[in-house]
Amino acid sequence: MTNLLEVADAEFSYDGATTVFRQVNFQLKKGEILTILGPNGAGKSTLLSCISGFRNLVKGTVTLGGQDLSAVKGRKLAQMVGFVPQSQVRTFDFSVREYIAMGRAPYLGYGKTPSASDYAMVDAVMEQLNLTHLKDKVYTKISGGECQQVLIARVLVQDPQIIMLDEPVNHLDYGNQIRILKLIKRLSTEGYGIIL
Ligand code: ADP
Repeated sequence: MTNLLEVADAEFSYDGATTVFRQVNFQLKKGEILTILGPNGAGKSTLLSCISGFRNLVKGTVTLGGQDLSAVKGRKLAQMVGFVPQSQVRTFDFSVREYIAMGRAPYLGYGKTPSASDYAMVDAVMEQLNLTHLKDKVYTKISGGECQQVLIARVLVQDPQIIMLDEPVNHLDYGNQIRILKLIKRLSTEGYGIIL
């Protein structure tokens, strides 16, 4: 099978003086799960931000679906790469359904609200992840485990090729850790490339 993602000779520095990582090489195929491990400060989050196109490498290339990511910006990038952040301060009282619908943003025109077909996709993903019972709940008032599943649902409606999750089971109790890891495994069998 061809590679979905290829990272070749990647190097990054924030200030031009200290190198955070160099000579990073790996490939990811559809359906594979890659875990990046290392101590605090090793550069894992920085590497993820380079792979997701938020930061540019100082050397090397990131190729996704045959395209050089440094040439892909904005919405196009958001249609290819989904990112589930480590933890979030939850501020606004959106309903869970509205919050998940925000994952459709890269497909909407400026100032446009999600259409019936966008909401149909949101409802289908909530059904798939067994989250339908949460749809009218306030996003700021659900549990940590539920929140993690909602973040994953938001990325699924974004319909990316790869999904990156930054320490997805941090701060979760054992039962929820298992639930999230099983969900991630299932997504890989559905053809997403996954990086943890
Ligand atoms: P990890 O995710 O493995 O804990 P990070 O990628 O967060 O590591 O950090 C790698 C190195 O880059 C650390 O030395 C950190 O201090 C530094 N660093 C992280 N973010 C920035 C930033 N925005 N500006 C400058 N240095 C940073």
